[in-house]
Amino acid sequence: MHDRRAVVVGAGIAGLASALVLSKLGWRVALLERRERLRGDNVGTLLWASGVRALRALGIDAALDAGGSPVDRFELRHEERLANSFSAALLGADDGTPSVMVHNAVLYEALVSHLDRDVQIHPATQVSRIDLVDLAAGDATRRWDADLIVAADGMDTPTRGMIAAGAPTVDAGVVAFRATIPAHRAPERGAEAAEIYGPDRRRFGYADLGHSGACWWATVPGGMRPESPQIQHELINRWFADWPGPVGKFIAATRPSELSQQPVRFVWPLPPRLHHAEGDHGVVLVGDAAHGTAPILAQGASLALEDAVTLGWALRRNPESIPDALHAYDRTRMARVRKVARLSRRVHMVASGGPGVTRGLLRAMPDSVIAGRATSLSDWQPPR
Ligand SMILES: Cc1cc2nc3c(=O)[nH]c(=O)nc-3n(C[C@H](O)[C@H](O)[C@H](O)COP(=O)(O)OP(=O)(O)OC[C@H]3O[C@@H](n4cnc5c(N)ncnc54)[C@H](O)[C@@H]3O)c2cc1C
Repeated sequence: MHDRRAVVVGAGIAGLASALVLSKLGWRVALLERRERLRGDNVGTLLWASGVRALRALGIDAALDAGGSPVDRFELRHEERLANSFSAALLGADDGTPSVMVHNAVLYEALVSHLDRDVQIHPATQVSRIDLVDLAAGDATRRWDADLIVAADGMDTPTRGMIAAGAPTVDAGVVAFRATIPAHRAPERGAEAAEIYGPDRRRFGYADLGHSGACWWATVPGGMRPESPQIQHELINRWFADWPGPVGKFIAATRPSELSQQPVRFVWPLPPRLHHAEGDHGVVLVGDAAHGTAPILAQGASLALEDAVTLGWALRRNPESIPDALHAYDRTRMARVRKVARLSRRVHMVASGGPGVTRGLLRAMPDSVIAGRATSLSDWQPPR
């Protein structure tokens, strides 16, 4: 068989991890990214034990020591009072694998620095054409032929619609603000990781980031704010004035230039399949392009890493047939991503139901129910 060529569209976590896996298997990889630079955002990302296992399978879990912090305890609060507290065991780490909060830029750097030298990276390349029949991807002027196209271009990928209609991106009705703060400016905080549910569907969370300092995230109802970072910072200050604990201190310690604003969306329903095979080649969806989930359970990055590991496994098991490998990937991933997407959406709906509903649920939910759910979220193991 000739040298196999893959085109990976998008250099987010899913695309980088897929390029890494494919290059390790000896594929010639072209990685096409519309941004000018490959780098992560100034935000913290929670990797559940499943995501940490996937990083381990990729051989880059050492990066977590540099810019991450194990989450041994996660508190859920409603306004003033503690409603639930998850221990490491409740987060699903019964085999000893920790869940880790990591600086997103550290995660990106680890992925980029482990890419094989033969991976051709094409930044500032906006893919505008995918040809499913002759299998190629292209921008306005260039074309890359391939045996396999990996669509890792996030929730708005046009490729999902080409493979299976009826899996739209849904606006969750809230917008998120996030930031990390270097260790020397990070405020004192009572818990290593906590999330507070307040009035008017507002949430605020914060966590340790080890050597990288600390991070926080907040969601408020509405769409993306058009104002300058300075004004956004003032608005956040106003929205979370009088919130308990270190909330105000986190906001005060943040410079407007450190703020990231993100829309909150998810794919629903999920597509009925994650690949398309044509002759002896094919296209596959990974990461948010396949199954962007509501971020309330912080699962998207872990799922993206799991996808890449599973794709590598499927291609190794089916060295002679790309279509067979893509079938195996699809069969292996579908149940898992459906379960996580369904639960994430359900929790998002509850959290959007107003303070009374959220507070009542947080109070009433027995630890055993939460434990069962949390464990089932992170019970993924790399396929063998
Ligand atoms: C507020 C918020 C908080 C979150 N917190 C967590 C968390 O704590 N833990 C967690 O696991 N997940 C979290 N997530 C989800 C997580 O960030 C995503 O699931 C994950 O980043 C998806 O990675 P991806 O590579 O699939 O997609 P993306 O990160 O969207 O990457 C897609 C890449 O493709 C590029 N691209 C797009 N179109 C083109 C094109 N036409 N041509 C070339 N390149 C293109 C983009 O520039 C981008 O680099 C959160 C999400 C949000 C919104």
